[in-house]
Amino acid sequence: MISMRRTSLLLTALIAAGMLSACGETLHRDSRLAMSTTLSIVVSARRQPSWEPLFAAADRLAWEFDHRRADSPVGELNRRGRSRLRPEAIAVLQEALEIAALSAGAFDPTVLPLTAVWSFDTGGRLPEPVEIEQALERTDYTRLSIDATGEVTLPEGFGLDLGGIAKGAVVDLLSEVLDAQVGANYLIDAGGDILVSGLKDGDKPWVIALRHPREPRDPRGLAGTLSLGIRGGKIAVVTSGDYERYFDRDGRRYHHILDPRTGYPARGPASVTVIAGSCARADALATAAYVLGPEGGLALLQGLDEVEGLILSEENGRLTALATSGFPMAIDELTLN
Ligand code: ADP
Ligand code: MG
Repeated sequence: MISMRRTSLLLTALIAAGMLSACGETLHRDSRLAMSTTLSIVVSARRQPSWEPLFAAADRLAWEFDHRRADSPVGELNRRGRSRLRPEAIAVLQEALEIAALSAGAFDPTVLPLTAVWSFDTGGRLPEPVEIEQALERTDYTRLSIDATGEVTLPEGFGLDLGGIAKGAVVDLLSEVLDAQVGANYLIDAGGDILVSGLKDGDKPWVIALRHPREPRDPRGLAGTLSLGIRGGKIAVVTSGDYERYFDRDGRRYHHILDPRTGYPARGPASVTVIAGSCARADALATAAYVLGPEGGLALLQGLDEVEGLILSEENGRLTALATSGFPMAIDELTLN
């Protein structure tokens, strides 16, 4: 996962010292717990943003996509088999279906029956093979339908789990709220699902820390840093890894990214970092590439326009890296082993 912790500490120190950049902009920062992670927002502007409405919007958006909330639109779909979603949520669902098709179902938003039997939300359990078999019969994104009025339907026993795209989608929608409030030039980080808008201090790129997925040599725990930002534009960076949520049983590690072809945790790389134009797209693609593994994942990312990726894999205790041809950092700039 990409961690902003180091960068954020540095930014906080600058604010504490009351430092202004040459163009008069100050970095304003606030963080709250949201979506079971830390949501941080950094805004480069002359004036402090209004934090309360921003974090309230984040909570409202997160609720909308949360299948664990029976009263949410997704919760209702799972309970009743049908639900009417607003256009912004339909767009997220369509993005999820597109990535599902591009990855031949390695990413599948109807993975709920499977995630339910593994119960990672409540600490995790090892299901019986028959439970996995039954869950796989009810995991198939092609059975989800969306009509022209925005009504979404699923067959009996099926369910949506948007955990692989929701955080990114919330970051994108939150960025629209921020656009209305402060214009451009900010960074949103939802526990490694990052979106940057514009530049900081008038003309500098945002520095994003790439977390080392194993035992790092770097004392800050990093594999490297990425500098990203375009004036007037947005870029998203998302990392999926096997160290985020897991449980250990009988010497084996079971993590929360499941392979819908086998029903078991994907035997994927250590981490996948994806850069794309939207955070939802980067989020879903990182999960998809993770399930497909280093070669398949790289082929998926390399084949898409305006998408770049970095895949770190572990072999015999050593990390190796594969990157798409346009990834904005050379592999030899990384501190891996
Ligand atoms: P994180 O959000 O922890 O960074 P991901 O973005 O990779 O990790 O999402 C993992 C979540 O996605 C799981 O907790 C689950 O809700 C859901 N999920 C697991 N396997 C798949 C899959 N093959 N396709 C789509 N979603 C998945
Ligand atoms: Mg994801």
